[in-house]
Amino acid sequence: MERWRTIIEPFRIHSVEPIRLTTRAERERALEAAGWNLFGLHADDVLIDLLTDSGTGAMSRDQWAAIQHGDESYAGSPSFYAFRDAVQALFPFGHVIPTHQGRAAERILFSALGGPGKVIPNNTHFDTTRANVEFTGAEAVDLVIPEGRVPSLVHPFKGNMDVNALEALIRERGPANVPVVFVTVTNNSGGGQPVSLENLRAVREVCDRHGLPLFLDACRFAENAWFIRTREPGYATRPIPEIVREMAALADGMTMSAKKDGLANIGGWLALNDDALAERCRNLLILTEGFPTYGGLAGRDLEAIAQGLREVVDEDYLRYRIRSTAYLGEALDAAGVPVVRPIGGHAVYLDARALLPQIAPLEYPGQALAVALYLEGGIRGVEIGTVMFGRHPDGSESAAPMDLVRLAIPRRTYTQSHIDYVIEVVRHVATLAPKLRGLRIVAQPPQLRHFTARFEPL
Ligand SMILES: *Cc1c(COP(=O)(O)O)cnc(C)c1O
Repeated sequence: MERWRTIIEPFRIHSVEPIRLTTRAERERALEAAGWNLFGLHADDVLIDLLTDSGTGAMSRDQWAAIQHGDESYAGSPSFYAFRDAVQALFPFGHVIPTHQGRAAERILFSALGGPGKVIPNNTHFDTTRANVEFTGAEAVDLVIPEGRVPSLVHPFKGNMDVNALEALIRERGPANVPVVFVTVTNNSGGGQPVSLENLRAVREVCDRHGLPLFLDACRFAENAWFIRTREPGYATRPIPEIVREMAALADGMTMSAKKDGLANIGGWLALNDDALAERCRNLLILTEGFPTYGGLAGRDLEAIAQGLREVVDEDYLRYRIRSTAYLGEALDAAGVPVVRPIGGHAVYLDARALLPQIAPLEYPGQALAVALYLEGGIRGVEIGTVMFGRHPDGSESAAPMDLVRLAIPRRTYTQSHIDYVIEVVRHVATLAPKLRGLRIVAQPPQLRHFTARFEPL
């Protein structure tokens, strides 16, 4: 496409969903009822919902058509084989085990591999990944490169693993206590930043030296492949499916949420080569998810995922996807709002700690900013910081490495004028920043507190 043209949404709208305007007073009441936790809101009180890109995207005409092909046989459904083949076309692992979401794949894998005394390295564990590792008594260690921890620092592959730190961890703990090495593509909690093939190859070498398996948390594999194509020397003309297969060839398995780059509203899978481990995982699957040819999904869901996997590697889609996220981030950056740079694939991350220096990390600057965006403009983002990661298994609390607010962009859902509105609201909130105050937690569960904690403004 010629460079001077706007990169437009490569689709027309086929069926519309109304969104509801609310007043500031209505939003204030809604916030109070929700305990100042945006997860507690009724979604119809939200105007632009950037809480997550997980399962919130619009399915295509062809996915809805595929749903009609869903076969609901309990065992051996043709929809399972369509799903398995679509997965293996990109990730040729020997075993493909469907699950209802990514976290179910995590729970099964870490139940089989985790346990007290074990340590699982990752560039950055996603919240459910960390929780599932820790639930088994194992330790989750984040080893992203130092550049990945500095929001303002520009690096083409800020999601890369610190290979020397990985080597040191394995030596210190002993390879017998490291059952698997994980790499998350793209690095969601670290800003949606990509991992290069060069880095994956280096991680693979470390794993080989110690005889350890390497798994991908591959939720945003297509977005990662697009970044490889546009940023890594030698890949500029390589088809996206080939880049994905090259990523897969470096790994022994993967966990996946089909709610991200599966372009589906539900689903996930665990895929791997190890026959004995796959057998143990299938037995755990039957216990909580279902028979191995449906894994807690309906046949129609498996069909929607199979079609989604064909669409997500389309170049026009990925060019639009990555460009439209950058459009939001670059506009905020140009307006002087501190954002994680460069702009990631699926979301723009506001640096709340930099924008709200008067709010100490343990008074949750990210939560304060997320609440202000809702109050002022009906926009729902999510805190990724001390609320999400600040509490440790022993109940103690410390500041997370960063206090961010993630504005995640649902796939194929909002138009450019919706995003222009978001830009206006964030710029307005930035002018109010010196007046914003922090919050305190009045109730919280032992794990994954950000979903259900209740707050009070200070
Ligand atoms: C969403 C996500 C998960 C968990 O997937 P669910 O489908 O939400 O259970 C795991 N890892 C990463 C990086 C994710 O983004």
